[in-house]
Amino acid sequence: MVVPGAEAPASGPSVADLLREGIDRLRAAGTERPRLDSELLLGQAAGLERTAIVAHPERTVDRAAAAAYEAAIARRERGEPVAYIRGVKEFFGLELHVDARALIPRPETELLVELAARQALGRLAARDGSAAAEPLRIVDVGTGSGAIPVALSTALGAGGLLGAVRIMATDISDGALALAGSNLAAHGLADVVALSAADLLPADPGMFDLVLANLPYVASGDVPHLPVDTSFEPALALDGGPDGLHVIRRLLALLPARLAPAGVALLEIGGDQGAAIVAAVVAVLPGWACRVEPDLAGLPRVALVARDQAGIAAGPGRIAGQS
Ligand code: GLN
Repeated sequence: MVVPGAEAPASGPSVADLLREGIDRLRAAGTERPRLDSELLLGQAAGLERTAIVAHPERTVDRAAAAAYEAAIARRERGEPVAYIRGVKEFFGLELHVDARALIPRPETELLVELAARQALGRLAARDGSAAAEPLRIVDVGTGSGAIPVALSTALGAGGLLGAVRIMATDISDGALALAGSNLAAHGLADVVALSAADLLPADPGMFDLVLANLPYVASGDVPHLPVDTSFEPALALDGGPDGLHVIRRLLALLPARLAPAGVALLEIGGDQGAAIVAAVVAVLPGWACRVEPDLAGLPRVALVARDQAGIAAGPGRIAGQS
């Protein structure tokens, strides 16, 4: 039966109306950033940049886009992270595919990439042009989405240095490895980074000059109390055992056999684990050196672990040796 006057108008609802509705619904659901989330989700649904959404609230979108947006708002109302709904997350200025197979890359982890690039550059510069040198061996342990090797390879590639390094990435999760593989391929890095299924380090007995890892470090008892968004992420990527450092300690124990003599491990830690990681290094690796770098919020975030003080020295001093 056709009800007079009920036909769909020629154009769909306006951006302003859709945003207002989304913001109201997400605010009522207790979402932290209802406006930003609504803008991102509408942009995705309508195939528009967020800037276009913000600049033109009077624009109308078609009914299919409005329906897709409604569905996205409903998912966000239940707590699903925006990054999973959109399927993408920006990391280190790069776009990565993300889904429930792996942790969503966090901005804090960009610090790990920066420090790793600095350490790699410092070590390459210190070789001082000895062309016969072996490539610098780098491994990212528990790579998840592949955010770290994608970003690090991009940074090193910009400096024309990919020929001087050999990069591997491991994960214990086949789903994560598949996601990392698609991200590497999307950035043209499928032949640059070798993926390997492994519990921590690959079985191959070789040594590494740089060991990078953003392993699970949340204490088991804290996992249920993380923000609801986090409950959509794999617990395997978050749960670090009773004190959060169980998996990291297992990696520390492997370092004497697998870290090259002048190598360094860069380990992301929780903002409240600065003292605990130093204690863990003292306990597992007596006599080794450990330095903790703060993130932009001033919280302990990346532990550098090496056999001696020279191994954890900041990179830039050595890069200066180029002159
Ligand atoms: N930073 C993440 C969080 O607080 C934890 C990441 C990790 O365990 N590696 O949710």
